[in-house]
Amino acid sequence: MKLKRGSRCTVCRSKGENKKAVVFLSHHRLALCKEHFITWFENRVERTIKEFRMFSRKDRILVAVSGGKDSLSLWNALVKLGYEADGLYINLGIGEYSEDSKRLSEDFAKRINRNLHIVDLKEEIASIPQITESVNKPACSACGSVKRYYMNKTAKELGYNIIATGHNLDDEVAVLFGNTLNWDIEYMRRQYPVLEEESGFIRKVKPLCKITEKESALYAVFNGIDYIEYECPFSEGASSIRYKEIWSQIEQQSPGSKLRFYTGFLKKMQPILKEKEKRESELRTCVVCGEPSFNEICSVCKLKQRLAQV
Ligand code: SF4
Ligand code: ZN
Ligand code: ZN
Repeated sequence: MKLKRGSRCTVCRSKGENKKAVVFLSHHRLALCKEHFITWFENRVERTIKEFRMFSRKDRILVAVSGGKDSLSLWNALVKLGYEADGLYINLGIGEYSEDSKRLSEDFAKRINRNLHIVDLKEEIASIPQITESVNKPACSACGSVKRYYMNKTAKELGYNIIATGHNLDDEVAVLFGNTLNWDIEYMRRQYPVLEEESGFIRKVKPLCKITEKESALYAVFNGIDYIEYECPFSEGASSIRYKEIWSQIEQQSPGSKLRFYTGFLKKMQPILKEKEKRESELRTCVVCGEPSFNEICSVCKLKQRLAQV
């Protein structure tokens, strides 16, 4: 996204104005001023929502808010675009990181005047550090299943029919790359910007899947959104961070590679995987809590049982 000195905004120029560009989107060959970057970002989100038929203005959307740039930018854009979008913050109980991200999420909700629902893991099950210590499970794997579980459960209880998450293009490319390295077909099959509602799961969507991490950070900065700028302490050493570094080198040498890799997968590979999809008839209901599960007892109830034993 290097900007040449003296570049002018492409959109302003087409209108006969001569405003200075502040950002250059190399893979779109666009130099934009602040105002037109914001419009470009929101249009791109809107187009993605339409392309994948994610939701309409009649739907009640719950945005999974972490206090980071992606989820707050997404929430801001959806509200500006006229969607009914509230937030859900899951307090993971990860010390200062959770305290800061909760405060920033609450401040932002007040600023845009929307509801922010809060689920406190300490009250529901246990904090992520407690879970990691008590049962021998890596933090991110426990965190992933617990977050998914409470997002789905809370959305249903509160009457929302869509969950929107802030996964961006870099996240999707890193996950796809990891799954490809391991040829993890089952995960690849489920990697799509929309996961339809089925047997107790409500629809999950990723409207930022074609927006890069840098673009979402810029959108946050240009809109004066205060977001948490440091990573969760458990993210250290995560393979996704390594994959992102590799991809940023590829992107530098060949702009547009990330988008091509991801959209190529969606267009060419996904239909093949979908065709082979064995219907998830195995999906049943957890005998303990009644939430959808692939096993007799869902992973969170199993976790609760193990925690009760220690
Ligand atoms: Fe949860 Fe891991 Fe992400 Fe931290 S880095 S929020 S523990 S998934
Ligand atoms: Zn402009
Ligand atoms: Zn259960």
